[in-house]
This record gives sequence, structure tokens and C-alpha cells, in this order.
Amino acid sequence: MNSPLSPKIKNFDRKLSLNTKLSTGSFILFGLSLTLALGLFLIIGKSYFDARENHHRIIIYRNVLIAANKISAERGPINTLLGGDYPDDSPVRKRLWQFRRETDDILNILENTLPKDDKAMLYHARSLLSDARKRTDQILAIPFSQRTLSTLTQPARMMFAAVDAMLPLTNATALSLSPDDGMADEPLIGKKLLEIRDYAGRLGSILTPYIAKREAISEADRDQLQRTVGKIQQLWELVYPNLKRFPSLAASTSVVESRFFGDGLYLITRLEEEARSGQYTYTTRMMTDELVPTLLPLEETRLAYLNLMLNQDDERLQSTALWFFIVTVLTLLIITINITLIVATQRLIFYPLLKARDDIVAISEERDLQNASAALHGGPEIEEVFRAINILRSKLLERQQLTATLQHQASTDGLTGLLNRRVFDTIITGQGYFEDIDSHVGLILIDIDKFKSINDNYGHEVGDIILKSVADCIKRNVRFDDFVARYGGEEFAIILPGSELAIFAHIAESLRLAIAEDPFDIGEEKVLAVTASFGVAVGQRGEESWQDLFRAADKALYEAKRSGRNQVCTG
Ligand code: GH3
Ligand code: MG
Ligand code: MG
Repeated sequence: MNSPLSPKIKNFDRKLSLNTKLSTGSFILFGLSLTLALGLFLIIGKSYFDARENHHRIIIYRNVLIAANKISAERGPINTLLGGDYPDDSPVRKRLWQFRRETDDILNILENTLPKDDKAMLYHARSLLSDARKRTDQILAIPFSQRTLSTLTQPARMMFAAVDAMLPLTNATALSLSPDDGMADEPLIGKKLLEIRDYAGRLGSILTPYIAKREAISEADRDQLQRTVGKIQQLWELVYPNLKRFPSLAASTSVVESRFFGDGLYLITRLEEEARSGQYTYTTRMMTDELVPTLLPLEETRLAYLNLMLNQDDERLQSTALWFFIVTVLTLLIITINITLIVATQRLIFYPLLKARDDIVAISEERDLQNASAALHGGPEIEEVFRAINILRSKLLERQQLTATLQHQASTDGLTGLLNRRVFDTIITGQGYFEDIDSHVGLILIDIDKFKSINDNYGHEVGDIILKSVADCIKRNVRFDDFVARYGGEEFAIILPGSELAIFAHIAESLRLAIAEDPFDIGEEKVLAVTASFGVAVGQRGEESWQDLFRAADKALYEAKRSGRNQVCTG
């Protein structure tokens, strides 16, 4: 059956469905939040990897400073060795080999970790160092008595050059550090501390040859000595305020002040006095033993400073790592929640709602409901929707049944249950919903004989029983698609499809026999024989033709009555 709603529902399919729209919407939302999360992830990720890279550079920088310091430290044993004759297995010799090994180890590490561009500076410093070592070894091979003053000054100067060659590398690696580090610009302080330590050591190196040879210092070297002291003080003035900012460096800074700038420089001044006259109370060994301990606090401060820098960077690295982790977890969480929401919305809302739509459409098309199980997926609201749909459906069924009952009542005769006169007229005139019946029909009119006397003799109630029984008898003896109507008091009509008069006459005859042969039960164990007369005609249904048909049948019935009743006449 085609409901008036069906065409609209089909149109709806052609438009973008609600499900598609909402799915698209949630996917766009998902995409946007994913982009946001990934953006954050990338930003934090980048700062994490930058911090790691910076940490790596700080370690390189620290190693450059350590290497420069190691080169500088090699001068200590050299100063002692140049001042006398020491056998190969003497402790000072062993210390020199040990120092050289340590320098080489850290230089090797640097060679493997330095950025390509910075390697040239390292190679240059290494070659100067190697030259200085070679020259030193040549001079040390000469007995002390044969070493001239000028040969004695050479190793220190060559070693100075090697340390100086490391300084551009310290600059380059310091400047490559991230400026947003907590210690902006301060990597260079590490370099300055290195220089102070190195220059302090140079003071001893300048004096060594003169003390060793017990000769007065040259004018040029005295100048250099003073210039070096000046440089040290200048550098310390630059560094000192920066170091004071860190409470953890306060102790070692004040030790530098008292030990190096107090005891150390006092020793240098005294030695310079002695060197001026060439009258020495000190040997090179004594000088080294007294000067070197005053340099140690400088080294400790530099180390403490570098460690501080590394610790701060470690903290920064850890905090960015923590953020990186948090953002990664959050990103994953957002993705999971998004997917869960989309799936849940689809399963718990869209799916049941679409099924509810199917049910409502099914109701409108008078089909059975099928989607009650969808209610199980949704929450109480969805269950309510399906409950409402079921109520709607049962109310509709009730109404349909009521309508059917009313229609039945309106079209049937209350006593016999046969079609009433109104429906009979509609069929015979060919109107309304009986249009699809064949227009060629036969009409059998039946009139119970002498019915008035039944009423008169047995009463109206028995008359009614007879009417009902005759109606039942007719119904039993006709086909399913024949229309049987009560069109008058004790008059019945049968409309049969077809145009064979003989067949209809035959049917009428068998009906006549069925009524006449079996007496009817009228209650109280009594029976009554009844007969009826039949008029049969064929013709056309239809607004105009029906009257001819009816007239012919009626005429035949009249003929049957006139000929003595209980018979079939055709017209
Ligand atoms: P005929 O053989 O010539 O047809 O004789 P008749 O008595 O059957 O014909 P008539 O038309 O004179 O009588 C019909 C009677 O049917 C009159 C009326 O009282 C009776 N009748 C009509 N409708 C009903 C009804 O619903 N119940 C009962 N019990 N009688 C009815
Ligand atoms: Mg009659
Ligand atoms: Mg009659």
C-alpha cells in the first residue's frame, strides 16, 4: 500500500543525511583537536629536542675547557723538569707522561664529538701541542748544564701558543649554546676562568728558566710578567660579580681571593724581586710546590661553575622532558577520547535514532516495527523514544481496528451479517472501491415465499430466525467473491462476476433446493419448511446499465412468484 508519506521519505534519501552531516561535523572537530594537540606536541617536542641538543653542546663546551686546562697543566711538570736532570723513571717524568695521556684522552673525545666546522681549530691546537711536546722532549734530552736560557724559555712559549690556539674553540662552542639558557651570556665566564688559571700558571713558566739558571730576568719577560698579572686582575674583575650571584660558588670564590690573589700573587711579587737581582732563595721545584696549590682554588671554582651550569641545564632538560611526556600523554588522551566519543555517539545516539526513524516510517507505511533492539544501545532517553513509538503503533492499531469495525457495521446488515442495501447499490451502480470488479455480472434476486404468514403464524422473532437461517444458507452456497446482500425485508440479492446466464440459473436452482429441502430449526425442537422464489438476469453494472439488469432480474422474480413460487426464472 502506498502511503502519502512515501514520496517525501524517498526525497529525503537524496539529500545529505543527518548521519552524514553529524559524522562530518564530528570528524572535522576530531581533525581540529588533533591538529591542535599535534601542534602543541610538535612545539614542546621541538623545545625538548633543542634542550637535548643544547645539553650536548654544553658537554662539548665543558670538554673543550677541560682539554685547554689539561694542556695548560702539562706546563707544571715541564717547569720542574727543565730546572734539573731527572731520570726517566722519576715521579716528575711520570707525572708529565700521565698529564699528556690525560690531555690526549680528552682531545680524542673532542675530535669525535665536535661539530665539523670546529674541528679545524682543534687540529691546529693539537699540531701546536705536538710541536711543543717534541721541542720540550728534545730540550729535556740535553743535560741541564748544557741547556741555555733561551732554550729553557722555548717549551713554555710553545705550550702557551697551544693553549691560545684552544681559545677560539672555547669561544665558538660557548657561542653555540642556547641564549635562552638560565645563564645567558655566561658560558664565557667559564672561558675567562680558564684563562685566569692559565695566565696564573704562565707566571711560573715565565720565571722558571731564570730561577733554574739563577740568572736575572730580562726586561721583556719582566714586562710580560707584569702584563700577565694585570690581565689576570682584569679578568677577575669581570668574572667576580658574576660568580657572586651564585651562593653555591661563594665559598670557592673567597678561597681564590685569599689563596691565589693573596698568597699566590705575593709569591710572584717576591720571585719577581729575586729575579730582578738574580739572587734566588727559591729553586724551580720550591716555586712549583708553593705556587701550584694557590692555583687549585681557581680550578675548583671553574669546575664548580661548570657543574652549576650543567645542573641548571639538566633541570631544564628534565622539565622539558616532563612537559614533552605530559603533552604526549595528553595528545594520546585527546585522540582516544575523540575516537571514543565519535564511536559512542554513533552507537548510542545516531544508530538508535536512525532506527527510530525507520520505525516511524514503518508506522506511516503500516509495516511492522523491527528496531526495538536498537533501544538497548542507547540510554533512558532513547528507550523512551522507542516506548513512545510502540505506544503510537498500538494506538494506531486500535484506531485501525475501530475503523474496520465501524466500516463493517456501516456496510453490513445487523440481522443477517450480509452486505446491506447501501453497499448493494454501490456495487450494482459500479461506484467507489468496487470499481475493479468485472463489469459483466449476473444478478440473482431472492424473495422468501409467503413470509408474511410466517410472521403472522409464528411471530416476528421466528421470522427473524428464518431470515438469518436463509441468509446463512445462501452464504454457504455461493463463492467467496460473490456479493450477497439483503436488499429488502425478506429479499436477498447476489451479484456474481461473469455473463453466463445458464450458470447463474444453475446456481439459483441449487440455492432454491438448499432452502426448500432442509426445514429450518426455529427453536424448542421445532422446524419449519421455507421456500423462496428466484429471478436471474445477466447484464452490466454501471451508473446507467444497472437499471436494465435490475429490472430484468426483478421481472424474472415476479415471474417466479406468478408461476407458483419456489422456482427459478431467468430474464
Ligand atoms: P410473497 O410470497 O408474495 O412474497 O408473500 P409475502 O408474504 O412474503 O410478501 P409480503 O411483501 O406481503 O410480506 C413481506 C413481509 O415481510 C412483510 C413484513 O412484515 C415482513 N418483514 C419485513 N422485514 C422483516 C423483518 O426484518 N423481520 C420480520 N420478522 N419480518 C419482516
Ligand atoms: Mg417481498
Ligand atoms: Mg415474500
